[in-house]
Amino acid sequence: MLALSRRARSQGKSIAFVPTMGALHAGHLSLFRRARATHDRVAASVFVNPLQFGPREDFTRYPRPVARDNRLSRESGVDWLFRPSTRALYPPGSTTRVVPGPMGSRYEGAVRPGHFTGVLTVVLKLLQTVEPDTLILGQKDAQQAALVGAMMRDLDVPARLLVAPTVRERDGLALSSRNAYLTPDERRRAAGLHRALAAGRAAARAGARDVRRIEAAVRVALRLTARPNRIDYVAVAIRLGRTRLIDNVTVTPR
Ligand code: AMP
Repeated sequence: MLALSRRARSQGKSIAFVPTMGALHAGHLSLFRRARATHDRVAASVFVNPLQFGPREDFTRYPRPVARDNRLSRESGVDWLFRPSTRALYPPGSTTRVVPGPMGSRYEGAVRPGHFTGVLTVVLKLLQTVEPDTLILGQKDAQQAALVGAMMRDLDVPARLLVAPTVRERDGLALSSRNAYLTPDERRRAAGLHRALAAGRAAARAGARDVRRIEAAVRVALRLTARPNRIDYVAVAIRLGRTRLIDNVTVTPR
């Protein structure tokens, strides 16, 4: 991977990189197309990173449709699809980790201890292996994008970060490989996640500035629409059955 990238770089080509865990959907493909439109070479990776999964999470059952991912990435303009093995990335004895600042222990990090240490460690390793001009991540995982951006600044990674907008289903549900776990009833309720965020945004736009008021609007809407089995935090992540879904909207104060 590094040899390919360095050869292209020496020929003056710009390189974008999109890391994924595979089970590609239209959200991933929009990142590939964004990369294709703005760079000479597009590198993507598929790696289900064991380091970012907790002991009781879905690492083993995470979907791995290899042939389909190969085809979809080729059709969406990926030049190089990088599929490292776990052994290649984490050979025995590799114990160094990239630990995020305090924001890494909030929200997703509070529910999934160690998750962002796993994410930052693998993203830094992948960045060292691809040496892209631009790293492209999705807004869907807002906390991840913020922490990766902080890591790149803090550790002087010589690439820029581009955060691309969330791609949604018609009913507002953000595309996610984990949506495949939902039963038909859970899938219907899942649309309530985005609807509840919209209620929070509406409250903010209507002038609410107290975070607790905005949160309350989101929680009320969530209980009515998604009827989640549990609300992990309002910023927002919920459980439908055993599946965790996260989503976010940004609100610009006027
Ligand atoms: P994942 O394969 O879930 O690790 O996601 C790989 C990249 O795709 C991450 O940067 C995600 O934020 C991004 N991504 C996932 N779902 C979406 C979506 N619905 N819209 C835009 N980007 C997404």
